[in-house]
Order: sequence, then structure tokens, then C-alpha cells
Amino acid sequence: MVASESTCAFELTGSKWLGAETEFYVGIEGISGTGILWNTAFITAMEEWTIETPFTFTFKEEYRDPCTNDGLNGVDFVEDYCGSEFGKNTLGITVVRYENTILGEPNLVQADIILNGSEKFDIFGGALPPFGPLSDRYDFRRAALHELGHVIGLEHEDTKQAIMAPEISDIDRLQPDDIAGVEALYSGLDSCEIKDLNFGITVAALETGDCNVKELTVGGDDTSYVDIYRFQLHGTTKLEFVMSSPILESVLILATPQLEYLGVDSDIEGDCNSTLISTLEAGNYLLLANTYNEEVKESCTVIGPYQLKTVLLSPQVLGANSSLLGGSSSAQFRGGITIDNGASYGNRFKPEDSLDMTAEITMDPAHIGQAGFLVVGAFLDDQILFLNEQGEFEYANPIPNPLTRAASKVLGSDESITIFTDLVPATLGIESIVVDFFIGYGLDSNPEELYFHQIPLNLTISP
Ligand SMILES: [Zn+2]
Repeated sequence: MVASESTCAFELTGSKWLGAETEFYVGIEGISGTGILWNTAFITAMEEWTIETPFTFTFKEEYRDPCTNDGLNGVDFVEDYCGSEFGKNTLGITVVRYENTILGEPNLVQADIILNGSEKFDIFGGALPPFGPLSDRYDFRRAALHELGHVIGLEHEDTKQAIMAPEISDIDRLQPDDIAGVEALYSGLDSCEIKDLNFGITVAALETGDCNVKELTVGGDDTSYVDIYRFQLHGTTKLEFVMSSPILESVLILATPQLEYLGVDSDIEGDCNSTLISTLEAGNYLLLANTYNEEVKESCTVIGPYQLKTVLLSPQVLGANSSLLGGSSSAQFRGGITIDNGASYGNRFKPEDSLDMTAEITMDPAHIGQAGFLVVGAFLDDQILFLNEQGEFEYANPIPNPLTRAASKVLGSDESITIFTDLVPATLGIESIVVDFFIGYGLDSNPEELYFHQIPLNLTISP
């Protein structure tokens, strides 16, 4: 986070497209003197960037007016520069539009290429011919290649050999410097460590040596430190994130893996803490634990320890389905562990906590009303246990056949299973344990088959 929004003109460096891709509308009429369609040459120029760099151009062969602010990327020859004059010897201009974002430089959201229709273009490779029929012509393809570099977010390169040199030259293909420029601009997430987020409590610190926002976003002047955590959700889930510290001014930011920012709590009122509550769809996400690049109030610093608490405010959807024999089921499995009667759910608890664990199955309609059974397995490092009909976990070594049932019943549309209530690990002598639970069901008509979920419901107990 920057302490104050700067309104001065931004530099081109650092602005980029979300997801390192954009779509161009290409509908340039006509053909060059050497017999190649302008459109074809423009498309091959886009393909060269796509093949050689991490950036991807997609295209539609349709005309869009490049002088219109329509949110779409267009290209055409225009006699004047959309109403004003082209500069002397200007072959083309790329006009870009930006959108402000939470971290880093504004994102590119539209780019139009306007080619000077008063200049003479043709299409040819190699050195610029000093004499002959093409000597007064400009190669359209390398001009397009250059303008597309501006679209991607590159500036002019004054010193090294590059298609992004300010003036058209004998260079007719992308050079190592052009490719390195795109790789650098779009590599921010690769240069920062990304840790897996625990649903529970994480203790960490923002300190010298950590990644900073300038490195993450490749641009701008925001040098505030940032820790990056990733997590995955398998269904719509409500979550609460709390970053707290007695001394560190805390900023929490939610983002997609492409760094599209979904939410931020940068509140600086009161204490140094930050809280973010969000309901998120199934998918992959990043949580950024950030601070400011300079102190914004006396009582909080911009370096120091913090505690990150992630609480599930709804039971977890336990991923895509699986089965023992390859059958398919559209059932949805959810589960959660709570110490506050369902106000919040988590997977990391202390030995003295009193835990309740429940699971729910929204049944595959084809299986509703059939005689069947429910199964709960607990997988430890070196042991497997199954819940029996008495509500007790029993060791399964070897795995019993038929499987131990937690219940035998006619399957309803929604089945709920209480796996344990008021379980205090410390009273069982457990100080530290990691268990992965799986919930499954089957039909009496095919008792060897078991339908379950791919993502375990994890329970981690540590002091
Ligand atoms: Zn240029």
C-alpha cells in the first residue's frame, strides 16, 4: 500500500494486462504491394509475441474503430491521429487506457493501434532496402510488431538491439531484449515466495528480505513488504481473515492468482489490525499480508511480527467426487470442525479446545430413497480408523471388507453425520496430531462401491 495516492503522470513501465493476455480486433482492409494482406501480417506479428514471450494475444477478425473508446482493442490505418495530426515521421501510435488497481501501477484495459495512413507501407523482411521499389516503403509487419510491444506494456529501448528501439530499423523480428522485457514485466509472482495458507492461525512477520509490492507488481514505487499465501476453495465459502499485530500496521488484500484484487482492508483507524470478511466462489486465491511503505500513524510500524487468523464462517465443500470402483455421483460433501457451535469453522486447534465435527452430504438424486450406508474414515500418518455405528473410531488394519459403517439407512436427500462432539484432544493424551477425514456413502445393491470426496477434511492439533 502506498501512503498517499499519487496523481502525477504514471510511467508506462509497470502497467500490464491482467492475466498477461488480451484480445485484438483485426479487420484492416486491403493488401500490400507484395501481395500479403495487412490483416495476415498483423496476425503473424501478434503470434510472434505470443510464441516468444509469456504474453498471449488472441484475436477476432472483425473491424473495431481504433479511435473509439469502447473497451476493445482495434487497429487501422487512419489519415490523421483520430482527429489530430500525426507527428512528423510517425508511422503509428498506440493509445492505451488504464484502470487503477489496489497495488502497483494501473492495469492496461484497452489499447488501440493507429497507423499513419499517409505513409507508404508494404510487407517485406530483412534490412531496409536502400534503393529499389521498396526503398520508400516501410515494412508494415515490423511496425505492427513494435506497436504491439507498446500494447503489452513495453517502452522504447534506446541502447540494446530491439524491435522496441524508437526508430524503425533493419531489425524485423523480436530480439532477446524485447522478450526479456515482457518476461520481466509479467514475472512478479515468480519473484516472490508463495506459502500455503492454513485455515487457523499462522504466525509470521513482515521484515527486511521479504518480497515487496514493487517486486510483486513489477513497477511503481511501493516498497511496502508483503507476504503471499495461496488457498483453494471447492465450493462457495464464507471466510474471515484477521491480521493482527501490536506494532505492525496491517493491510489484508484478497486476489486471484492473476493478481486481480477482490478485496482490501487498509483501514488505519484505531489499532494496527486488519479484518476482511468475504464470501468466495470455488477457485484459487491469494491472500496478501501487507503494510504501508511508510508509517501512517505513530503507534504502528511498517515492519514487525503479525498473526494471521483464517476462519471458515461456513462448512467447507470437500472437493470433486471420487469413488472406489469408478462409478460417478453428483453428491456434494461438506464438513467442518467448530469450537463455537458452528459460528466459525477451522482445521487448526489446540489440545485443550472442545471440538465438534459434523459432515453433510447432499445426495445424488439417483441414490435418494435407496438402502445404503455412510462411512467415515480417519487417516493418520501410519493408521486408518473408521467410525462405527456406536459412534466410536476403530482401527482398520487391514481395511475391513465390507467397510465399517457409521450408519445403515435409507438414503435421504440431505444426510448429516455427527463425527464427534465435545472432543478435547488433551483429555485423550493428544498434544499434537494431523488427521485427514473422508466421508463416503454407498448402496446396499452395490456394497463394494463407495462414493466420497477428493479433498480431505483436515484436523491439525498443535499446542
Ligand atoms: Zn514506439
